[in-house]
Amino acid sequence: MNARLPVYLDYAATTPVDPAVVAAMSACLTESGTFGNAASGHLYGTAAAACVRGAREQVAALIGAAADEIVFTSGATESNNLAILGCARANADRGRHLVSVRTEHKSVLDAGRHLEREGFAITWLTPEPSGVVAPAALAAALRPDTVLVSVMYANNETGVLQDIAALATVCRERGVAFHSDAAQAAGKVPVDVHALGVEFLSLTAHKLYGPKGVGALYVRRGARAALQALTYGGGQERGLRPGTLPTHQLAGFGVACEIARRELPAEAARLARFGERLWAGLAPLGGTHLNGAGAPRVPGILNVSFEAVEGESLVAGLTGIALSTGAACNSDSPEPSYVLRALGRDRQLAESSLRFSFGRFTHETDVDFAINAVRHEVARLRACYPGLPAGPGGDLPPGWAHEAAGGGARVVNGEGGGPHQDSWVRFQLLVAGDTVKDARFKAFGCPHTMDTAAWICGELSGRARATLISGKPQDWARARGVPVEKLGRLFAIEDALRACLAQWV
Ligand SMILES: *Cc1c(COP(=O)(O)O)cnc(C)c1O
Repeated sequence: MNARLPVYLDYAATTPVDPAVVAAMSACLTESGTFGNAASGHLYGTAAAACVRGAREQVAALIGAAADEIVFTSGATESNNLAILGCARANADRGRHLVSVRTEHKSVLDAGRHLEREGFAITWLTPEPSGVVAPAALAAALRPDTVLVSVMYANNETGVLQDIAALATVCRERGVAFHSDAAQAAGKVPVDVHALGVEFLSLTAHKLYGPKGVGALYVRRGARAALQALTYGGGQERGLRPGTLPTHQLAGFGVACEIARRELPAEAARLARFGERLWAGLAPLGGTHLNGAGAPRVPGILNVSFEAVEGESLVAGLTGIALSTGAACNSDSPEPSYVLRALGRDRQLAESSLRFSFGRFTHETDVDFAINAVRHEVARLRACYPGLPAGPGGDLPPGWAHEAAGGGARVVNGEGGGPHQDSWVRFQLLVAGDTVKDARFKAFGCPHTMDTAAWICGELSGRARATLISGKPQDWARARGVPVEKLGRLFAIEDALRACLAQWV
């Protein structure tokens, strides 16, 4: 039984806070708790400072670091910005070149683009189709003026893991600092900053059952001088991140790391089983692609693309599960997932991708629920897919074939849009003389396209040739509540009807 709908399969976006974490946070808020300012010299302050110290040790322990190498921040976005902007600006007199990857999180891409406007040069590597960055490709991109390389540990869309140790070795040999965004790796796979050989590493609490709005940047001892702060103030966090420490956030982050460290081996095995179960349930659909299949991946993230299915319609039909998709409607950009595009997936496969991510509160029944929902929806949409050419009689309904064979009626087809466009619509009409006797449609498109095509198709029976096309796409949009910006999708419907008329002479 699923306790709550929709089933939450979006742990890579954020996790619920563990109840033990909530308890630790609550103890730092009220008059009877550890509410003091950790910078104050009195007992309230020293109690808060002790709490912060404990949290710092717990966070450090998760990644094999020393407590004094942890700089608390507001999350991985800030940590990434501090590492990238801070290192570039602090070393601008040594060199103004950085290397990163096209599949990084937006906070790395945007920090990098900002540096480019400041006059820095950045080489953006394209990973191999598996998602992996080859150490040789990184080595080839390094220049004498390279000051920083930033490569994420685990990708947030695909779960693909990079061989950080190998990449960092390339950098160490050339005297280049290395930063890794480990927001998706921490808590899912063991992270040891010494084994990885990184100077900087970003973490965030809300991807491992801690609260939102807190994270950390690991700064290797001796690498502090390689960073310039982004903000100025009271000198906290070695001057790298001044401001009163949010004791409750840090206490929660600390306990979250402690639990993650303790539960990692068993939890990773459990989530890996879920991933295998999900894939075993979806692969038999055929035309399914596991993104990043050729690479090592974190357990608990599975990204699958479906052939012959339109992304927005797929998501619209999956109201029972909460997950992320590569469809453009899922983001503020008109382009589908830049991560999957960088791995060479075409537009349709990037748009039709679903990212399933499991976590601590996922049950096997949730996985099975998702398998059934997706199987059902993909089959439903594919039944509507106009991908096969409409034969003169090949796939006609039995009644039609009979009527057409009798000579009294005939079948006309018309297509609009295309397989590489947003919409693709085909109508099939059974016509007798000047009248439509019956109509069918197939469509590949957004929910608006599907809905409008179905509505129009239902209205076609009984129409004469002269009135086959009633109204314009603008009128249909108004009648069906299609937003103006989606109006363009409906032109494929009009084109398909026109093509029918051309055959119906
Ligand atoms: C979530 C995430 C971030 C951003 O973390 P915030 O704490 O939300 O700022 C950065 N990088 C990756 C890989 C992420 O998954």
